[in-house]
Amino acid sequence: DGGLVFVGTGILLGGHMTPRAREYITNADIVFMSVSSGIMEAWISDMNQDVRSLQVFYKEEVSRKETYNSMVNAILSEVRDGKRVCCVLYGHPGVFAYVSHRAIELARNEGFTAKMEPGISAEDCLVADLGIDPGKYGCQQYEATQFMLYQRKIDPSAYLILWQIGVAGDISLKKLETKSSHRKILLELLSEHYPDDHEVIVYEASSLPLSKTRIEKIPLNHLIDIKLHDYSTLVIPPSLPLSINSRVEEKLRQFSY
Ligand code: SAM
Repeated sequence: DGGLVFVGTGILLGGHMTPRAREYITNADIVFMSVSSGIMEAWISDMNQDVRSLQVFYKEEVSRKETYNSMVNAILSEVRDGKRVCCVLYGHPGVFAYVSHRAIELARNEGFTAKMEPGISAEDCLVADLGIDPGKYGCQQYEATQFMLYQRKIDPSAYLILWQIGVAGDISLKKLETKSSHRKILLELLSEHYPDDHEVIVYEASSLPLSKTRIEKIPLNHLIDIKLHDYSTLVIPPSLPLSINSRVEEKLRQFSY
């Protein structure tokens, strides 16, 4: 009977994939992959006879949403055909990833076994490389464009992580990179909560054994002109100290006697 599993490669080529993920790739009838580089594709292609890249679905002037739905359809049609399908995404297959959650939901609705294996995400690398513990002050994280477009309650006493900062403000979902004009709007939004010279971090985890991790600390207002990529993440450390909620504190104190 057909079934579906999503696994992750992690971020670092050859170093982050779990043994379970590898086993699923090896034993599948068909492997689909959407990963971060040609080298990563070549590496996975060696693990199974039938490995198909999902990159073919990316077309100019087609929105990412449409592209992702075409990928979901391609994957599901093989599951319906009774194949054991493994789908490999980079990082953690369920972190900031539409295709995995949607395909699993649809496959389950149709009565197929479908699941996900956890992987090492960019956030996991960030915690290690920047020495940031999300539990220390708390941590909010958003996809950058969604963060801009919707009303949010920003907490400047927690970390703020913005994913897909390189395409921040692209509501067409078609661009590979957005311009400083888009980022100016993001800066205006952030300036309501943070000082203009607040130190923020552009983070790019190394994805190849010899490539360097980018940890670039800049004042917030330099964000407009800095070079960003589709694999950049923005980290905004807290600008305010934690502030006690005395109402709750008082209520809790009564238990300590
Ligand atoms: N599933 C991936 C994961 O688990 O990390 C995330 C995919 S999401 C569509 C793409 C975003 O992840 C990028 O825009 C960036 O914010 C972040 N990202 C991906 N690779 C990264 C890297 N090498 N370093 C830092 N952030 C990265």
